[in-house]
Amino acid sequence: MKLKIFKGCYYIFLILLILLFYTKDINLFGKRFYKNIKIIQKEEDILVLVNKNNKLTKSYVPTSLVKINTKYAHKEKYLRLEAKEAFERLSKNAYKNGMKIIAVSTYRSFDYQENLFKGYVKDFGKKYALQCSAKPGHSEHQTGLAVDVMGSNGDYNLFEEAKEFSWMRENAHKYGFILRYPKGKEKITGFKYEPWHYRYVGVYPATIMYQENLTLEEWKEKYG
Ligand SMILES: [Zn+2]
Repeated sequence: MKLKIFKGCYYIFLILLILLFYTKDINLFGKRFYKNIKIIQKEEDILVLVNKNNKLTKSYVPTSLVKINTKYAHKEKYLRLEAKEAFERLSKNAYKNGMKIIAVSTYRSFDYQENLFKGYVKDFGKKYALQCSAKPGHSEHQTGLAVDVMGSNGDYNLFEEAKEFSWMRENAHKYGFILRYPKGKEKITGFKYEPWHYRYVGVYPATIMYQENLTLEEWKEKYG
């Protein structure tokens, strides 16, 4: 009798182990990251979804890339016109409230991303690179709609510790931006938590995503 229970437990354990092995890299929609990759057709769509399963072509460069006012950016940084105007409004109002929100990384070309990713692999190994950097064509920085920000503590890596972080969490959607890679959603977005990375999607969608705690992937699934 005891042996039977032991055997039963053993098989259950074995099945769980196999299940764990097969599901650990699968996101909630059942697609493996960097597998079954779709080439994006409507690249200029403000709600374009760029991730590990949706890729921009090497030749894609957004139209209407414009320079952000250097008061709100570190050196020369470019975003698409609509995102640039929204970001400047956001930074201007943050400034009025005693906050400093500066764009440190915005539009990045396919080639730039390729070198960046290779650098991560070289310095930290492929496993880590895959978690925190995107392969070329899979970075939404190529859309000209994404912005990495830093606060008054002067380091985007430490943005979560800056006083600007909570202001940004509560207000970014009012200007059309979402925190793109939230904590706890890594299996959906495919990226580790990035408190500094914001994405422009427009005020109405951003507000829904903020209120319902949805990633862009989940929003697309529900409303897109
Ligand atoms: Zn980023």
